[in-house]
Amino acid sequence: MEEVADTKARKGGARLCSLCDQRRAALKRPKTLEQICRECFYKVFEEEIHQVIVENQLFKPGERVAIGASGGKDSTVLAYVLSELNRRHNYGLDLFLLSVDEGITGYRDDSLETVKRNEIQYGLPLKIVSYKDLYGWTMDEIVKMIGLKNNCTFCGVFRRQALDRGAALLKVDKVATGHNADDIAETVLLNILRGDIARLSRCTSITTGEDGPIPRCKPFKYTYEKEINLNQICTYAYFKRLDYFSTECIYSPNAYRGFARELIKDLERIRPRAILDIIKSGENFRISTNTKMPEQRTCERCGYISSQKWCKACVLLEGLNRVCQSWVLGEAKALIMMAERK
Ligand code: SF4
Repeated sequence: MEEVADTKARKGGARLCSLCDQRRAALKRPKTLEQICRECFYKVFEEEIHQVIVENQLFKPGERVAIGASGGKDSTVLAYVLSELNRRHNYGLDLFLLSVDEGITGYRDDSLETVKRNEIQYGLPLKIVSYKDLYGWTMDEIVKMIGLKNNCTFCGVFRRQALDRGAALLKVDKVATGHNADDIAETVLLNILRGDIARLSRCTSITTGEDGPIPRCKPFKYTYEKEINLNQICTYAYFKRLDYFSTECIYSPNAYRGFARELIKDLERIRPRAILDIIKSGENFRISTNTKMPEQRTCERCGYISSQKWCKACVLLEGLNRVCQSWVLGEAKALIMMAERK
């Protein structure tokens, strides 16, 4: 029986698309393992994202939406697909690209060139905010000062705030980010491993920060990384020939996150649904009413949303400036001693 079905599904030796039954299958969908043609892949890929947007009411007509754009595969595909869906389904959105320049030579400067080309290709206005302007430091300078151990902590905290500050400058109602299903499953695992209850309870929400300055949403919450673009083959970005940047950050030593990522990939190899099931587990997670959650207030120093007296960015900046002062003092003392010896 299986053999008959298999023979029926082939035309001139080529397997037919299991959705349209007309064209040659060009790929096996990583999410469902169906063999489908390119045209049907574009259709189901875009339609699934449209359904997620509609069912979760991610946008309202007339809203200004900034797409967090790094020049990487996820945000480039997001910018392309959102512009297409906005036109096709008359969402009535004003779309913008918003990029953060962390000041990483040989990485971010190159990827920002890609975003600048995307600005022209998709006709979306671009705003770039930089760590140097906002905090007085580039990541290159931070790494020089603190080394490669905690650099991603600084970078993550600064980026979160930088995106909010850029969104405020653009006067947008929402920020859409390119976080995909793999990223979210990975964050669920990391929060479990770290015992971070507060983050675990909100990391699967499709829209976050509704109580903060500007809400963020993730239209790719159920989209597999492999379908966006992994290894540059058989994927949306590859087939559509989108212009994106694929180099890893030169300061990317985050071993713990890397471990969670590998674990997710191993699970996906054995059972593709594992990614969606981890997200589902996170969604069904309930916090006991006895668990004390951090209180939301504003930072006494910069006014940004915070659960402490100072927000994390101000605490990190204070530490950084102190290290810098003592380093400068140390250098000055060494120079004086050298001069005295002469
Ligand atoms: Fe920043 Fe670390 Fe990401 Fe590089 S890898 S962009 S330093 S968070």
